[in-house]
Amino acid sequence: MGMLWKFVLDVFFPKFCIRCHGEGSHLCEDCLSTIPINSWLYPPAQPTCLAGLLCASPYQNRAMERAVSNFLNPPYLKDLSLQLAFCIVSHIASLHNEMSFENFLVTAVSEPEKEAKRRGFRASRLLAKELATALKLPLINNNEVRGKNILLVDIVYTDGVSMEQKAQDLKQAGAREVWGAIACRK
Ligand SMILES: [Zn+2]
Repeated sequence: MGMLWKFVLDVFFPKFCIRCHGEGSHLCEDCLSTIPINSWLYPPAQPTCLAGLLCASPYQNRAMERAVSNFLNPPYLKDLSLQLAFCIVSHIASLHNEMSFENFLVTAVSEPEKEAKRRGFRASRLLAKELATALKLPLINNNEVRGKNILLVDIVYTDGVSMEQKAQDLKQAGAREVWGAIACRK
C-alpha cells in the first residue's frame, strides 16, 4: 500500500487497540506482549492423526480472548490475523527442541461457507496466509499433498473435530505428517 494512501486511511479510519484503546493498531505491541506464549507442545485430543499440535497460547487471557472474539465476530477485524500469526511464530520459536518446519506446506481447516460469507473473509485461511508468509513456507489450497508435510492452521481448538477431519483428508490424500497450528485452545 502506498504511503499516502495509508496516511489517508489512518486519518479517516484510525485503529484503536481492542485492549487498551490506544490509537495505532487493533492490538498494540504492549498488549500483544501480555499474551503468554506456550513453550511446550500441547497434546491433541485422542484419537488423532495429527503428528503434533502447535498451540500458541491459552485462551484465558484478556488480550487473546479479545483478539479471537474481534477477529471471528463483529466487528471482524481481519488484520488481527497478523498478531495471531505472530503468537504462533513466537510459540514455534520458544519450543526448546528446535523444531523445524522447513519443507512444510501450510493450509487451513475448511470453514462453513455461511461463516465466510458473514465475515467477508475466510478466517483460518487468512491466519494460514500470514503464518505461511512469516515462516516463508508455501500456502496451498488443494489436496495435492502426496509425500508432503503439512502445517494445518485454525484459530481456536475446542474439541478438535474440524481439525481432525481435515487432517484425515490430508492423510488420505497421501500427506506424510500433519501438524496442527492454532492461536489458542479453549
Ligand atoms: Zn493496547
